[in-house]
Amino acid sequence: MGKKKDAKAAKAVEDVFSSEESPLSVDVRTALRARTAAGEVLSPPDVDADGTPGFEGNKAEGRAALSARSARLAELQELLYAAGRVDQEAAPSVLVVVQGMDTAGKGGLMRTVAGAMDPQGVRTAAFGRPTEEELEHDFLWRIEQQMPEPGQIVVFDRSHYEDVLVHRVEGLSPRAEVDRRYGAIREFEEAAVAAGTRVVKVMLHISKQEQGERLLARLENPDKHWKYDPADLDTRAKWDEYQQAYAIAIVETDSDRAPWYIVPADRKWYSRLAVQEILIAELEDLDLRWPASTIDAEAEKARLAAL
Ligand code: AMP
Ligand code: MG
Repeated sequence: MGKKKDAKAAKAVEDVFSSEESPLSVDVRTALRARTAAGEVLSPPDVDADGTPGFEGNKAEGRAALSARSARLAELQELLYAAGRVDQEAAPSVLVVVQGMDTAGKGGLMRTVAGAMDPQGVRTAAFGRPTEEELEHDFLWRIEQQMPEPGQIVVFDRSHYEDVLVHRVEGLSPRAEVDRRYGAIREFEEAAVAAGTRVVKVMLHISKQEQGERLLARLENPDKHWKYDPADLDTRAKWDEYQQAYAIAIVETDSDRAPWYIVPADRKWYSRLAVQEILIAELEDLDLRWPASTIDAEAEKARLAAL
């Protein structure tokens, strides 16, 4: 197929999805919430990593839906940004925490979902091994500095949850300190919500087999070696312990005001689509309106015409 034909075919698929309506047949926040309607909290192994809840289409259709809906996300983000420009104090903000095992697709999610929005009002922050300076402070110190300002959306690529995940499994902190942190995290997030930040937490859930394939793909492509960290294999060796640490973190810190979502991520296109829908739903809940005009448009038009 020629390039033109390719583009035409893609457009035809895209037209099937409207930017105004969710392409998912389920309420994404109900379907993917770690806490079920019955109040039970799911652990990652309870969720099929290969699933596509609420979406019957294939990969091409999934990508078309992702792209169609990114216009809606961008519009809502502009509304939020406008609210922040009008009221620097009281405008809401949004924090999306993204966690997941190595190769789960955190980086790609940053690129596609966060990248669909206007960089003026959106920021991503990645948290790796703490620096010397960061280690001198409480674990939340470096997190506080990256929290969103009113009107902003911030997406965390890893987060304060590493301090109860890798720290628990690898014993980087004493168990009593790790146990203290769940409460500290609850209080920290609760305070952020009270101050006007919507907090959404996403675990990109991949299967061990899919991770194996992704790591092998990285090893087989020299252009991707920069992404390969030999330490990832040590983490993989403790797969079940990490899954358990996730389960504990989710049970300890899920609440209606700072909910956890377990997002199937063996298909990257689905996880991106689902997180985009979660974000759209959060922003729609804010019920934002364009700021009231403070100019006399007719008078300005007359001035413009006269110039
Ligand atoms: P990546 O996301 O691939 O750049 O890897 C970042 C690495 O930093 C991962 O191995 C994380 O487990 C590690 N990391 C992130 N936060 C912390 C933390 N607070 N303490 C120790 N290791 C961390
Ligand atoms: Mg890595």
